[in-house]
Amino acid sequence: MSTESHLLYSQLPAIDRLLREPAIEPLVAQHGQTLIGELLRRLQAQAREAIKRQQRLPDWCGDWPQALAAELARQQRSALLPVFNLSGTVLHTNLGRALLAQPAMEAVASAMGAAVTLEYDLDGAGRGHRDRAVADLLCRLTGAEDACIVNNNAAAVLLMLAAVAPGKQVVVSRGELVEIGGAFRIPDVMRQAGCQLVEVGTTNRTHLKDCRNAIGEQTGLLMKVHTSNYSIQGFTAAVDEAELAQLGAELGIPTATDLGSGSLIDMAQYGLPAEPMPQRLLAAGVDLVTFSGDKLLGGPQAGIIVGKKALIARLQQHPLKRALRVGKITLAALEATLRLYQQPELLARELPTLRLLTRPQWAMQEMADRLLPALAPRYGAHFQLRAEPCWSQIGSGSLPVDRLPSYALTFAPLDGRGATLEALAERWCRLSQPVIGRISEGRLWLDLRCLEQEGALLEALNA
Ligand SMILES: *Cc1c(COP(=O)(O)O)cnc(C)c1O
Repeated sequence: MSTESHLLYSQLPAIDRLLREPAIEPLVAQHGQTLIGELLRRLQAQAREAIKRQQRLPDWCGDWPQALAAELARQQRSALLPVFNLSGTVLHTNLGRALLAQPAMEAVASAMGAAVTLEYDLDGAGRGHRDRAVADLLCRLTGAEDACIVNNNAAAVLLMLAAVAPGKQVVVSRGELVEIGGAFRIPDVMRQAGCQLVEVGTTNRTHLKDCRNAIGEQTGLLMKVHTSNYSIQGFTAAVDEAELAQLGAELGIPTATDLGSGSLIDMAQYGLPAEPMPQRLLAAGVDLVTFSGDKLLGGPQAGIIVGKKALIARLQQHPLKRALRVGKITLAALEATLRLYQQPELLARELPTLRLLTRPQWAMQEMADRLLPALAPRYGAHFQLRAEPCWSQIGSGSLPVDRLPSYALTFAPLDGRGATLEALAERWCRLSQPVIGRISEGRLWLDLRCLEQEGALLEALNA
């Protein structure tokens, strides 16, 4: 080691001394010596590394208390950072899908800090299991005989297959062997559940006789999967739920549909693309229907199975149910969300998912017109700012071709001034509340459909 480096190392203050510094002592009092000591050791290791590599002390060594405060802030920054979702996708899986309604947030807050009657029977009426209250609500809303709640819809499909058709054959159309983003693929879930997939029909056309011909001794379930994230067009044919249910009833084989999204209300009444409704499938005779809690339902992450009492009882008693069950926080959020559906007139206002999906284009256009002049002074020198019409997506497996007219702020780099869209997007990702847009056609688009805090966005972008 050179004498020069030696001199530099000797300039690093000892941890003990730092812990007693007047500017650092209050942090020790507030956060404890363990955490502050560890952060100081981390900083010291960084300083040693800098001396080793560059033969000099890093600049921040001039102010250890400030470097410590910055390290502390970094350390305490949550991994679940709130962001502005201006991506144009309302139910964005990577951004946590549905925003909960106010009553659901309040129900969660109250359930979190208290003991609750999760599986505790106050009146001796025998509630049975933890899903009871939510199941009763779901029965009223969908006409189902009973319901079962698990961690997500993938879990719902897995449990349903494992409990209803263990070791048996499950008949599915070749046109419905869906993959939902990587890990959820119908053939893989079948295998995991211990079922044997029997593909029938062709990619574009499946007929009832294909299903009938595939049925034998070993058939345990006839299943339909909603092709939520793609559509097959042209010369097509599919077996509808009523036909399949009738065939199942005739031969004594249960039928099921994995809906994925599934909406408890008719989306068409709001001018939105129609989505299949669980209650309609149950009315058509399907025995079990699975769907997500945090897609169009607008609630917490959960998987919901509704249908026939005897089959739901098999799900509730299956060992996998224990592994896939939800906790009180999810049940509290789901119950409060479902209660909103008992007052459908208020839904478009109270349920954030529906509120955002039904926002008229003019509302986003007005916002764009207000934001544009407020952002021009900061960004106008390097970017051409415009308010432009665009299309939002529902997301989470609702058809990508079903799009909603919206309005965006767009940023296009002015030639020759060195500004790039990637650098701008990256800068916005580093904000304390990151702004997530989308780059396309040489512009950075901020779709305003999901913006409800205009002032906060302005403050973030002009900071
Ligand atoms: C989204 C979806 C799933 C998976 O649901 P998660 O809630 O993400 O687990 C399964 N099947 C279909 C048809 C879907 O659309």
